[in-house]
Amino acid sequence: FSPWDDPSEQPFIEFRNITKRFGNFVAVDNLSLKIYKREFHALLGGSGCGKTTLMRMLAGFEAPTEGQIFLEGQDLAGVPPYKRPVNMMFQSYALFPHMNVEKNIAFGLEMDGLPAREIKSRVHEMLSLVKLEGFAKRKPHQLSGGQRQRVALARSLAKRPKVLLLDEPLAALDKKLREETQLELINLQEQLRMTFLIVTHDQEEAMTVADRISVMDKGRILQNATPGEIYEQPNSRFVAEFIGDINVLDGQVTKKENEDVQMFSSVLGDHLDVRYPTPASVGDHAALAIRPEKMRISFDKPAHPGTNAIQGEVWDIAYMGDVSIYHIKVAETETLRAIVANTTRLVERPITWEDQVWLSWDSDAGVILTR
Ligand code: ATP
Repeated sequence: FSPWDDPSEQPFIEFRNITKRFGNFVAVDNLSLKIYKREFHALLGGSGCGKTTLMRMLAGFEAPTEGQIFLEGQDLAGVPPYKRPVNMMFQSYALFPHMNVEKNIAFGLEMDGLPAREIKSRVHEMLSLVKLEGFAKRKPHQLSGGQRQRVALARSLAKRPKVLLLDEPLAALDKKLREETQLELINLQEQLRMTFLIVTHDQEEAMTVADRISVMDKGRILQNATPGEIYEQPNSRFVAEFIGDINVLDGQVTKKENEDVQMFSSVLGDHLDVRYPTPASVGDHAALAIRPEKMRISFDKPAHPGTNAIQGEVWDIAYMGDVSIYHIKVAETETLRAIVANTTRLVERPITWEDQVWLSWDSDAGVILTR
């Protein structure tokens, strides 16, 4: 099921031509975005790109300068935060230090005047959801960082919002705990069948948890797509370089026949074959981008047709355990990277510093970037 293929499908959340100015500063710039029901959507971008501001406008903490926000087709303009069916979990968790876990979770429900029995049952349900059944009477300072984070999550979900907003929710956790919690978030979202919107600057986190990612820069969305599409078919240099490592070679289109394109790289002084759908025409400047894991290294020149091969010198080898990253100097001003799994036996003898090697990749392994 992909509502993205059906234009008649009503989005659950829609940002329509949203601009937010702080004085003269444009934090969000005429941005439009549709998020569908039960989607786990990530807003991904560097510091100051406007992702938190966008989320705060959905929560009602900020009003857009221009544009409209819809939730299930209803314009949210003028609806105060507490009347919006969204809940935001902050990076700092903001738990009440003097209240135990149970009270922290119950607080919002008490403010809403829910009957005591209902509150009790919801707190119980939430504790079980975040696997903290035995911790009801503990105070926040008696919990680990990961447990505090789960209490904050339970508290945000207790009111049963239609959308959960997560603002860098895992930033304070160490790497291992963060990875575990990412998987818990995915499970939770599947279990609750809710719409989650997460703000993060961590591309791995966005790739792990989200169904779709919007990559943001300077108050705009550059690409909104699945993690796979963002990684395999980035639509711009910014997106390509923001997500993972990528080799980028500037060039000019010299031949084009449907998806078969030839590009000339002046730094390599060589023509390269690419098989990729692109609007670029012969004569256009464009860049060829190839992920390092799609590069191969060998002592002999590869003979397969459809393969690009350039010669270079091993400049550096970074051993990472599962893989090694080879930096190959292919021109005076150009070093390209190849990632090779350490389970692969490369050649009859190991490749080492200063070796002359061939770096090769299939013509359909590259992506043409036109902006
Ligand atoms: P970060 O990850 O650093 O929080 P972000 O992408 O979430 O970055 P925002 O918090 O949305 O960025 O801020 C976008 C820009 O708007 C920043 O340059 C910020 O300084 C500015 N900004 C945000 N809130 C205000 C405000 N209340 N007054 C003035 N400028 C603001």
